[in-house]
Amino acid sequence: MAATKASERPRRGSAPSARTRVARHPERGLYEREQVDAILDAGFYGHLAFALDGQPYAMPMLYVRDGDELFLHGSVKGRFAREIVGDVPLCFTVTLIDGLVLARSAFNHSVNYRSAVVLGRAHAVTDRARKLRAMDLLVDHIIPGRTSDARQADAGELKATEIIALEIEEASAKVRSGGPVDKRKDMQMPIWAGVLPLALVAGEPVSDEQARAPVPEYVKRRLRA
Ligand SMILES: Cc1cc2nc3c(=O)[nH]c(=O)nc-3n(C[C@H](O)[C@H](O)[C@H](O)COP(=O)(O)OP(=O)(O)OC[C@H]3O[C@@H](n4cnc5c(N)ncnc54)[C@H](O)[C@@H]3O)c2cc1C
Repeated sequence: MAATKASERPRRGSAPSARTRVARHPERGLYEREQVDAILDAGFYGHLAFALDGQPYAMPMLYVRDGDELFLHGSVKGRFAREIVGDVPLCFTVTLIDGLVLARSAFNHSVNYRSAVVLGRAHAVTDRARKLRAMDLLVDHIIPGRTSDARQADAGELKATEIIALEIEEASAKVRSGGPVDKRKDMQMPIWAGVLPLALVAGEPVSDEQARAPVPEYVKRRLRA
């Protein structure tokens, strides 16, 4: 399958193509790039899907968005960067779970979520300055403030790290919010129904036994985020 030319790719806010239009619960579909970006920026790990020799894989990975690209990283010894750059169609999915939706009937149980599906292709980032910038962005996306504190990658570490940039060709988001939707006949049943909110929250920092510095302010801030 040939790569989509830049001029043919959907621009910010354009209508979804057949491959990204949400068919199941279309009212939950969002396509404005700002809406998709908000979900991408709220998460920091996702699943990169690709097919090798006809076998699909979906690998969990950290990421950061930089404009119209997602930076992903891995070991140069890993197959991912070798096999998936160039004209290989990729799909990257980010899922944020906001709550468990408990309905009166088992059938109507659901989940509140925000998810984004990105389609695109990737290229290897080889320029040293861009590679360092991608690493810094990734670290600071996960824990803002860490980059200016941690030692930067040296030449050997940089060489051992593969960075790829996945260009967002098109994307969709899907969001479910609100309470359970039960059948009218079930509404009078003496069964609790509602939403159990869920969130990924940081716990108390556990200092390394040999740590020679106190817990930094930016770590405490992350705890409160
Ligand atoms: C945490 C979580 C749990 C879920 N659990 C289930 C489950 O158990 N069973 C189930 O059937 N579905 C579940 N879904 C919904 C699921 O992601 C799909 O939306 C649904 O299965 C319809 O798939 P489809 O291929 O028929 O979608 P279609 O609507 O045909 O998909 C067409 C296009 O819409 C876009 N799209 C579809 N779904 C999403 C999405 N979630 N996020 C962003 N873009 C999307 C994609 O670009 C896709 O190519 C869950 C979603 C989340 C986030």
